[in-house]
Formats: sequence, C-alpha cells, structure tokens
Amino acid sequence: MLTVSNYHYIRENYNHKYPSIFGVTPTQFENQIRLLKNLGNFVKITDFLDHTEDIIASKENFYLITFDDGLNEQYQYAVPIMEDLEVDGLFFINTINHEEQKVSTVHKIHLLRSIIDPKEMMNKILESHEFDYSQKEKETAHNIYRFDNHESAEVKYFLNFLMPYVEKEKVVNMLFHQYFDEKNTAGEFYMSKNQIRELSKKKYIGNHTHSHKPLGLFEKNVIEYELSHSKLFLEEITGTNVDIVSYPYGTLSACTPTVQEKSKETGHKIGFTAIKGINKNANNLFALNRFDCNDLIGGKNYQNGN
Ligand SMILES: [Zn+2]
Repeated sequence: MLTVSNYHYIRENYNHKYPSIFGVTPTQFENQIRLLKNLGNFVKITDFLDHTEDIIASKENFYLITFDDGLNEQYQYAVPIMEDLEVDGLFFINTINHEEQKVSTVHKIHLLRSIIDPKEMMNKILESHEFDYSQKEKETAHNIYRFDNHESAEVKYFLNFLMPYVEKEKVVNMLFHQYFDEKNTAGEFYMSKNQIRELSKKKYIGNHTHSHKPLGLFEKNVIEYELSHSKLFLEEITGTNVDIVSYPYGTLSACTPTVQEKSKETGHKIGFTAIKGINKNANNLFALNRFDCNDLIGGKNYQNGN
C-alpha cells in the first residue's frame, strides 16, 4: 500500500500582514519525514515508476512525498532535507509560470490576500463584479472556513464557490497588476528552469498542467491542451519523459473521469488527486489518493486513530 503526503508552501515563517498563506516550516517538514520513516519505507521514484502496481498492491507500508505548484521555496527548503534523509519526492510544475512568466491565479489570490484587508478585497471584487451576497451565503462561508475570521471566510467562499472561474481570473488579474509586478513575482516565486532540470535528473519532475485550472470544469479541448502542452514543455526543457500528472486542486470536480481519460490519452501513466486515502488498489492509476501533509502524523490536523 502507498501513502502519499502532499506539500505546498514550505517557509521559515508565515507572518504576513493578513493570514492567507499556510504551510509547514522546514523543521515541521523534517520532523514529519522522520516520523513517517518510522512507519514504513519511502519509495525511490525510479522504483515507483517501474513497479507502481506492485507497490500499491503490496502489504508493506510505502510512503511517497509530493509537492504541487513548483515553488522556489520547495527547492530551497525541502530538497536539502530530502537529501539529508535520503528521501525521494515528486515536484509537479505548471508551465505558464515559466513559458509566459505568469503567476497562477491561485497564487495571485494568496498573494493579494496577504497584503489587502479582506473587507477591502471583497469590496474591490464587487466593484467589478456585481453580486448580491446573501446573508445565507455568508453564513455558509463562515461554516466552511471556520478557522478564518468572517471577512476572510466571505472572500474565500466567494472566490472559490460563487464566482465563475473565468470571471474570477479576470478580476484577480486586474487586482494583481495594481499591486505586483507579475514577471518579477513569477521569477522569485517559482523554481527556475535550471532547478527543474536538476530535479529531473533524479526523475523528480511531474506535470501540474499549463495554467492550474480546475480541469473538470472545462471543455475537452481545454483539458487536452492543459495536459499536453505542459507535458511537452517540461519534456523539452528537461530532456526526459514526464509521465506523472497531479491534477490542479485535485478535488472530485477537478479530476473527473474525462480528465483522467485525457491524461491517459496525452501519454501520462499515473495521475494524482488530492482526495484523502491510502492507495491499496492499483485498478486505476489515474486516480491515486494523496493526503494533505497536515492530515498525516506530525501534521497540525492529525489525530491519533486517523
Ligand atoms: Zn496546485
């Protein structure tokens, strides 16, 4: 069986003006890897690629760590710890960050929310997107994001659930350009092509699609483009095959059977979701489960008996 722990941000501190970026510190990361090492064996990526089914169907406890979004801080902080502890990992890259030097919408939102007061942010969004936010919807927002204050919860719920994706992209883009230089931000925020090449020598690189869209919400031609364009781009810059994809957002609606089919058609061999669970059954390699690192031992949401 295979347990996968997935990471996003990994930085020394999360002291932003407004809380919007969450993740682990390098120390927390290292502690978690040590704890997981006590529970089973970390798979080597080459073994994982060659014997995926056997590893999943095995009675032994195998572990794998993955990183979404190709962040520079993952390279800076996680890679040296992985080298020290002799643990492999997979890094899933979006190619819009490199090919067009653009920041993914999901990160634009995190960055904006880290510097703008949530109430002000909500007002700015409503200025360009007319919407009547009902009390009932606000209450749902407070319930879903119960760890956030009410204002933050309302902005998050609005962006994530109430606003159509394409509309959201437009508004977020417009706001982002008022506060950030996109090219510079992309250059600092994501790994460099050289760093990607370094990791690819160890087979650590996977595809996270071109522009980090929730693929399941889009037409087939968009899904196909998002998957194949980035696969080719990554293969070109690294000179290696890129056979594994992690679906952006990774929820059920983001990685529908059509998305999984298209992944296969575009030449991928394995697909990772963000749906919680241990992989014990190798029937569908395009819907492998992953835990958010917070939900596993050493993580902040972990409770014994989980
Ligand atoms: Zn992602």
